[in-house]
Amino acid sequence: MPTDTSLAQRLLDGDRRALARAISLVEDDDPDGWELVREVYPRTGKATVVGVTGAPGAGKSTLIGALVKNRRAAERTVAVLSIDPSSPFSHGALLGDRIRLVEHFLDPGVFIRSMANRGALGGLSEASLQAALLMDAAGRDDVFLETVGVGQAEVDIIDHADTVLLVLMPGGGDSVQALKAGIMEIPDIIVVNKADHPMTQTMVREIRGVLSLAPQGPWKVPIVQTEAVEGRGVDDLMEKIVEHRAFIEEQGTLHERRRNNLRSEVLAIATARLRRGLEERLTGDEGFDALIEEVAARRLDPASAAADILGRYDPT
Ligand code: GDP
Repeated sequence: MPTDTSLAQRLLDGDRRALARAISLVEDDDPDGWELVREVYPRTGKATVVGVTGAPGAGKSTLIGALVKNRRAAERTVAVLSIDPSSPFSHGALLGDRIRLVEHFLDPGVFIRSMANRGALGGLSEASLQAALLMDAAGRDDVFLETVGVGQAEVDIIDHADTVLLVLMPGGGDSVQALKAGIMEIPDIIVVNKADHPMTQTMVREIRGVLSLAPQGPWKVPIVQTEAVEGRGVDDLMEKIVEHRAFIEEQGTLHERRRNNLRSEVLAIATARLRRGLEERLTGDEGFDALIEEVAARRLDPASAAADILGRYDPT
């Protein structure tokens, strides 16, 4: 199928409508979307990608709104991708988040998009990365990826950021416990938002305690206190983000980090396609149905049945 070259060109020229359309294509798993990404991919890799994660209500959206303001003041163009893996809704699901970014809606230098779990094959993580690549190709200087940080799937998405922020709020002990237990990966920067709360210093001490026990890399994870609603501490936070990025660039870890993330991405796409191919071939296959009957009747164990299928089919 011939690609809409004008769409690719308009995207590369930074046209917002072209970007919105392109993201819808990848979100819908449309082959034209993949083709478009293929075309513009050599032009990606320039944007600074910042991942923002944390429990719902911690203040991620408010904080991103404030960071966007900071970036716009520095005359940088921005894209925000809000990803909600838990939402069963599709387009327009993260209305609350959008509302908090409302002051930026009319600014052509700010592009905001939400994505929720559509149960599409290939998954939300894949679609989100493609969307982030498109934002990058469209010439956005800064891309913010926002996601609720609770489990493994979300970690995949955030892995594509150059710098990961974990947003915590005073009294939100669960996240500190998750960090302590190693459920949540140690981010690059920890933000204690709602620093107007009386429990703030207790929280900061607790986090310091956790960090002192965690294996230390060459980057010392800073704890930044913010009051996102008032914009307090946001410039400090932005400084830390810029510092972190400069640090990983200098150490050569930016390249390494991106390479590792792209490796997982390639594997994830390949796995999704293999699975899809296998499922398509097995749907309505009588031999497969009979095999499942054997498993259900306890005459054959599931692993042997899987080995049997893999022996008979080449899923590619
Ligand atoms: P998200 O779910 O992590 O995106 O959190 P939101 O940005 O939606 O914020 C959740 C609530 O916390 C909102 O009502 C915000 O107005 C409020 N909030 C955000 N930042 C602050 C802050 O610094 N101080 C206080 N007191 N409230 C805040």
